Amino acid sequence: MKTEKTRVDIVVPIYNEAGVVDQTHARICKVVDALPHEFHFYYVDDGSSDGTVDTLRKIADNDPRISLLQLSRNFGHQAALTAGMDATQGSVVITMDGDGQHPPEMIPQMLDLIAQGYDVVQTQRMDEALPASFKKWTSGLFYRFINSISGTRILPGTADFRALTRQAVDALKQMPEYHRFLRGMVSWIGYKTVILPYQPEERISGVSKYSLSKMTRLAMDAVFSFSLVPLYIGLSFGALLFCLAAVEMLYVLSFWVTGRTSSLAPGWSSLMFVILIVSGMLMALLGFIGVYVGYIFQEVKRRPIYLLKGDKPNE
Ligand code: UDP
Ligand code: MG
Repeated sequence: MKTEKTRVDIVVPIYNEAGVVDQTHARICKVVDALPHEFHFYYVDDGSSDGTVDTLRKIADNDPRISLLQLSRNFGHQAALTAGMDATQGSVVITMDGDGQHPPEMIPQMLDLIAQGYDVVQTQRMDEALPASFKKWTSGLFYRFINSISGTRILPGTADFRALTRQAVDALKQMPEYHRFLRGMVSWIGYKTVILPYQPEERISGVSKYSLSKMTRLAMDAVFSFSLVPLYIGLSFGALLFCLAAVEMLYVLSFWVTGRTSSLAPGWSSLMFVILIVSGMLMALLGFIGVYVGYIFQEVKRRPIYLLKGDKPNE
């Protein structure tokens, strides 16, 4: 019989959630304190500008199981998650949001599944019950789009609320890419995966820290890191235009063959139309290439994904 306790590390990225973190921690503790494992917490402050750090310090003072990591500025949710995961040492790592939307009551079930031999327990948000909203609509649209153009399957509503074995975490650590879309990366690494549905909850308080521009950036990271299809779109348009040009040539030639060249009206408007369409296509294609070049540029620079402030976290 195994006598040693399994060490489970919980990673929570936090950005301006001063009024929320203490409740989140208390709620997680209520669940995990009833479990027979050894728990450690990694709260990652993602450059908060409110009193979040003070609140986190206070919580950490009362709970020696907490490590507080501070990023030097706001690097974003995915980078904060990465910082937390990199610091973990346990044989199981659970990542979850700090705003109460990821119910910690699911942790026992997630750990049961890990014990059954799964490497990835991925939760999936059941959006059907949610009232219609801009976020729900754009999220649905995004997943449909990304799955139609990416070879890596990304389930709709999969949140960054999951349990991973040490092996899966180490696999993610081998992926040093700067533009991180963890949902896609977790799907990409493979391993034995199980999907666990959950009902999303309301935030404890405060507003979403995922602004529209942050959402857009995440969607861009997903599209351009997990698909080359945008490049092919330009290529297909180019091929289509080439065919159109051939058809037009044949059409004009038919006037010559039948001796009706005089009825060919000098068409300024159609010419302009074609010029505009073609230059539009070229610009779009150039734009796509530009994005990829930009991404390559950022990848080859091998910049760190995040920077820590102060001391390394205490263990
Ligand atoms: N978050 C972060 N950095 C950011 C934005 C968000 O660490 O730049 C954290 C945030 O504090 C929360 C989690 O990531 O714990 C999810 O963010 P949020 O709840 O705002 O996103 P939503 O649930 O609205 O998608
Ligand atoms: Mg949230």
